Amino acid sequence: MNIGFSKLARMADVVEFGDTSEYDETLVGRMEAVLKTPGRKLIILHIRGSHEPPGNNYPAAMRKFSGDIREDDYYDDSIHYTDYVIGKIFKALENRRASVLYYSDHALIRVKTFGKWVYKHAVGHAKKEAAEIPMWIWWADKSKAQRLGTVEDLYCTEENYNLVRDWLGIKTKDASAPSPLTSGWKSKGDYPVWISNSKATRFGELDRE
Ligand SMILES: [Zn+2]
Repeated sequence: MNIGFSKLARMADVVEFGDTSEYDETLVGRMEAVLKTPGRKLIILHIRGSHEPPGNNYPAAMRKFSGDIREDDYYDDSIHYTDYVIGKIFKALENRRASVLYYSDHALIRVKTFGKWVYKHAVGHAKKEAAEIPMWIWWADKSKAQRLGTVEDLYCTEENYNLVRDWLGIKTKDASAPSPLTSGWKSKGDYPVWISNSKATRFGELDRE
């Protein structure tokens, strides 16, 4: 259990921790149980996704890829499994006034270590790919707040406070900073990244793999 997350979780009305032997799909069943209770709710699912080592994150029955490099298969299988889990989340929410915000806290790099390919945290190997994460918002058909489009400019999750505020429709009294969901948002052009634990660098300064 991650200490930061357990601290956050203590602020919730309902908290469920999965067992390490369970896979991400288990959270969908738990989410469905919470959905049966009345009232509006914010549900946070902390999934493993493709976190290293990605080969541990899906059941054997969900294996799909079998190429020449086993680590690539593990990673691709984990993406395939996450796609399956997200599909189940959409299915559970499609007839509700619901929305899903999805993002990763970090990505992985693919490097060869001792003659073997591995997918790992980028500590000591800061590359652009380690900071490029998937992020999207999905709205069910019944949701009245749908905003469709793509943000083409560089965006950083450090701005997610504003984004989540606007996504949840929270209005603050003070003039709040815009997000991509409101008008007036502008990319800062470059952002700091903390890939090597201690020292911040600029995304624009990083090389590609
Ligand atoms: Zn991590």
